[in-house]
Amino acid sequence: MNSMAYVHTLSGKANDSFKGRQAVIVTEDSGDQTVVKLLKTEIGLEVIKTIPNRNFSDMYSSVKLPMQYRSREKLKKLAQNAMVETNSSIGIATTIYIGKNSVAPFLDIHAESLVFLDDKLNLELFERSNTGQSTSKSGNSEKRAAKKYQNLFKRLAFRLKQVCPECSMPGWGITFEIQGLKCSECRLATKEVQSHIWSCTVCRHSEEIKRPDGLTYADPKHCYSCSH
Ligand SMILES: [Zn+2]
Ligand SMILES: [Zn+2]
Repeated sequence: MNSMAYVHTLSGKANDSFKGRQAVIVTEDSGDQTVVKLLKTEIGLEVIKTIPNRNFSDMYSSVKLPMQYRSREKLKKLAQNAMVETNSSIGIATTIYIGKNSVAPFLDIHAESLVFLDDKLNLELFERSNTGQSTSKSGNSEKRAAKKYQNLFKRLAFRLKQVCPECSMPGWGITFEIQGLKCSECRLATKEVQSHIWSCTVCRHSEEIKRPDGLTYADPKHCYSCSH
């Protein structure tokens, strides 16, 4: 995969699949109108209703699956119910997970995830914010949480604008990160991202595409052996 394909997919022809269509959002942050405006300006989607999502953490809590899979199934269910209720062919459901990191339980994690369903185009997209340390103790935590939440919608809108190079369906986007960018000093693999897997959820086509910033080596400060 060369970088030209990346440029091509980013500047591909405008995709009008969502223009003027109606959607419903189920969210824990139902006061946030920014995302409603964003969906309208970016892809022309009209959000007709925002439903508060309050019981999310109680649902399915006994299901023994990693957190991201559990939330995906729950979110799908919530979006589907809301679509039936409002007679919309597009449903979006989001949640914010605040809990303990299973690998490092002394760290709090704060992760947002989102499911997008489109019955008409048969699309199902899942987006998840990078898990970071909880910002609950810092003064600006609310602002930062709102920012992360909005970024999740920005990523969704971006992805819905991209079309698959194989089948031309919208929703072409990053589904996996490959770490291992080599350190510029010692050339050992670091945990920094070296490339992304872009995929289409409709035809399953996928491609490995280099980082968009063109970085080919990692800063030694991100290298385990150089920084220890
Ligand atoms: Zn495709
Ligand atoms: Zn190094």
